[in-house]
Amino acid sequence: MQYYSLSKEYKVSFKDALHQSLAEDKSLFFPEFIPKIEAEFWNTIEKFSNQEIAFKLLQPYIGDEIPEANLKQIIDNTFFFDFPLVEIEKGVFTLELFHGPTLAFKDVGAKFMSECFGYFNTISNQVSTVLVATSGDTGGAVANSFFKTPNINVLILYPKGKVSHIQKLQLTTLGENIHAVEVDGTFDNCQDYVKKAFLDTEMKSLNLTSANSINVARWLPQMVYYAIAYKNLKDKTKPIAISCPSGNFGNICAGIMANQMGLPIHKFIAATNINDTVPNYFETKKYDPKPSQQTISNAMDVGNPSNFVRILEIFNNEFEKLSDKVVSKSYNDEQTKIILKKVYDTTSYLMDPHGAVGYLGLKDFLNANDNYQGIFMETAHPIKFLDVVEPIIGQEIAIPNNIKHLLNKEPIFKEVNDYMELTNVLREINK
Ligand SMILES: *Cc1c(COP(=O)(O)O)cnc(C)c1O
Repeated sequence: MQYYSLSKEYKVSFKDALHQSLAEDKSLFFPEFIPKIEAEFWNTIEKFSNQEIAFKLLQPYIGDEIPEANLKQIIDNTFFFDFPLVEIEKGVFTLELFHGPTLAFKDVGAKFMSECFGYFNTISNQVSTVLVATSGDTGGAVANSFFKTPNINVLILYPKGKVSHIQKLQLTTLGENIHAVEVDGTFDNCQDYVKKAFLDTEMKSLNLTSANSINVARWLPQMVYYAIAYKNLKDKTKPIAISCPSGNFGNICAGIMANQMGLPIHKFIAATNINDTVPNYFETKKYDPKPSQQTISNAMDVGNPSNFVRILEIFNNEFEKLSDKVVSKSYNDEQTKIILKKVYDTTSYLMDPHGAVGYLGLKDFLNANDNYQGIFMETAHPIKFLDVVEPIIGQEIAIPNNIKHLLNKEPIFKEVNDYMELTNVLREINK
């Protein structure tokens, strides 16, 4: 499979798209075609293991660049945890994506990507530096996934005081090849530093690469759990709507790709917080990015979602086609808090603030389309946002066993206040 840059200037291999993240002309990579999977597979999907489903969906995007046995190993190392589909009300399901090591869906993309890197960099003996800005969850998933990956150094930038306590521990306590810097600013500032470093010719020798969802190897594996959700849905006769709490729109874009490959999903709901650039686009047909605003669903505080161009590409930039398949709506923190508490009080299901935004989007859709059944994605475990969730429900939540060990660790990070300081840290870790 080749990947073209969205400016249509040139094409590269999977390996090069993985290493470069972004095309040289700064546009995103996109597969040269979307492979179709035969109806027989979807009709008999219950027969397949999650790993077999992953192989079926992902292999065409990699072709012969990774031998079958290695790809199967990469898939086994990525899809080793559960993706439960839980019915919380009649016809309303949540797809729990938080059973991985850092309790958020980003574990899937980050792990797949790190495994691919490990594979290629071991063969070529090339050393790469992963540079990543995080508003919270990406950093932890990337840190955990790339921990001890051969020939990879990782530098994570996060905004001071704007990630939760557990998130901070997840990205500052591993050590070895994982480094963290705290930026006195916002997520957008972190992102700007990263972009600047990528453009900086003096940084070229460090083989910088991004682990944000612009990277095809982080984006595409997310298709797999949409298919797993379908497999686990008992009633496959009713039309299906999936609501995805969206920030950079990588997750939902992967779901739409799976649908293009043949996965029967009838409607996608892109639910956002007040960072409503995309919902506004659906209303006005004008794409008007804005600076991000801080909310209680901080992983979705994105004013200019990078993957939205890929969604436009899937639909050939035709608004009619797009709006036939995708709807989008924005919700504020007050609505999110109210629904989080209400669902907890009435069903005892505890959502995290992102999942709650997804739930709001789904319910609005189902109320207007009662022939549908719906799935919303629980993209993170509520414990990651305990500072937000506990006051809303007025109760303490139990800490899952797999993160208890973090709580008595000391965070280790460097403070960075300008771009020069960042380049110093980059040189330091590559010595
Ligand atoms: C990253 C993240 C999102 C947003 O996902 P995108 O792919 O950027 O749209 C939603 N919820 C949680 C918990 C996240 O960490």
